[in-house]
Amino acid sequence: MDCRRAQEWIEAYIMGDLAPELADELEAHLRECDACQRHYEEQKRLIALLKRAFRVKQRFA
Ligand SMILES: [Zn+2]
Repeated sequence: MDCRRAQEWIEAYIMGDLAPELADELEAHLRECDACQRHYEEQKRLIALLKRAFRVKQRFA
């Protein structure tokens, strides 16, 4: 897998939307690629923040 495709899949992976066989491929790539590992950690943090902001907004809507 190349890094460009891996990074396209990372967001879906974090959201739980990636097909299991693709998730396996992505996990294998993340284990051996520092750049994508870092991208994954960043996206995970960002999405966690967005989810929290969304929940707060719903509570006060
Ligand atoms: Zn990579």
